[in-house]
Amino acid sequence: MNKEYFKKFPDEKGFFGQYGGAFLPPALIEHFKDITHAYLTISKSHRFISELRSIRKHYQGRPTPVYFAERLSNMLGGARIYLKREDLNHTGAHKLNHCMGEGLLAKYMGKKKLIAETGAGQHGVALATAAAYFGLECEIHMGEVDMAKEHPNVIRMKLLGANVIPVSSGLKTLKEAVDSAFESYLKDPESSMYCIGSVVGPHPFPMLVREFQRIVGIEAREQFFDMTGELPDNIVACVGGGSNAIGLFSAFLDDPSEIYGVEPSGRSFKPGDHAATMTYGKPGVIHGFKCYLLQNEKGEPAPVYSIASGLDYPGVGPEHCHLKDSERVKYVTVDDQDCLEAFYVLSRTEGIIPALESAHAVAYALKLAKEKKYQSILVNLSGRGDKDIDFITENYGYTEEQMQNRLKKTA
Ligand SMILES: *Cc1c(COP(=O)(O)O)cnc(C)c1O
Repeated sequence: MNKEYFKKFPDEKGFFGQYGGAFLPPALIEHFKDITHAYLTISKSHRFISELRSIRKHYQGRPTPVYFAERLSNMLGGARIYLKREDLNHTGAHKLNHCMGEGLLAKYMGKKKLIAETGAGQHGVALATAAAYFGLECEIHMGEVDMAKEHPNVIRMKLLGANVIPVSSGLKTLKEAVDSAFESYLKDPESSMYCIGSVVGPHPFPMLVREFQRIVGIEAREQFFDMTGELPDNIVACVGGGSNAIGLFSAFLDDPSEIYGVEPSGRSFKPGDHAATMTYGKPGVIHGFKCYLLQNEKGEPAPVYSIASGLDYPGVGPEHCHLKDSERVKYVTVDDQDCLEAFYVLSRTEGIIPALESAHAVAYALKLAKEKKYQSILVNLSGRGDKDIDFITENYGYTEEQMQNRLKKTA
């Protein structure tokens, strides 16, 4: 049945139920069809699959382990927490999984250049890494405001050989960077490839990025079964655009496991203070596809916020919207405070500093552990937290007290 699911979703036009599709300017339609065709032929070839497998093993360091967080679990009094360690993937997060796939596809298609936008710079760094590996040019569009905020990632991209294009229009952040990247791609779609950073955007990207991320779930399901002789009772991942989550979830859709996608409820439930798209959004169109969308009365994307910059997108992958409506996955929220506490608790109990994005998933697992006292919980630890340390110390200082409170609460 799983196989049927993947053949059925998305359909030929790129829809997952009513979500997805490709709402594109006429000039781009043919080029996106070419990418779809290339994906459906080249990426299924033996040569492509062998090369990608070899890259995953020898360059990325896959498989990443599943780890039983014993000290954390002992603190919780019954529930068992397991972590899928995507933080140990090369470059420190799951994003390289799809960037290496996109880069390899571009190489097989004879493209010379990879183009993308980046918000916090994580996607830009992963794509610049892939471009360096494949010997392709790389052009990353980034708002000037984000460039100032995320300076170390700008340096990383430049070290890796990427051409970072500052975007100075509008609010100088992600939305303008997307427009700028699309404009540049439109100038030369023959020799360049546009590479999206999550399971979002026009068809075929939500499908293509999912397929390259499925390795996370395929590995984790087997590893967990090997370790325990059973399947996890609960599965948890954070959802920004939704790529790390769909990577893990996709392997368990036919299993009895309960699945939870965690969105950021930020600093309050007011518009502009969170990015909980599934909980507060309504169907709409953004960046060429249909999904739940945080929007104003005019249907324009609303401002969003999260302590984790990788989660603050007003839209969400169309497959997640479908999984919400079909009730296979529950979408829940975690706020900044609980995220921060999980960040400290995991660092202190296990010696693993999680990305703030991933800390949302850990925080929900801690909540769940109270309700599901003797169950297992598999969490996707999508990335490591080194990138967040300066931000945390500058904005939150040393919150030993917060951590101690949490330890007391959970004990
Ligand atoms: C970018 C990022 C995310 C959010 O992206 P998804 O597509 O929702 O997975 C989550 N975790 C980390 C570590 C990231 O860098």
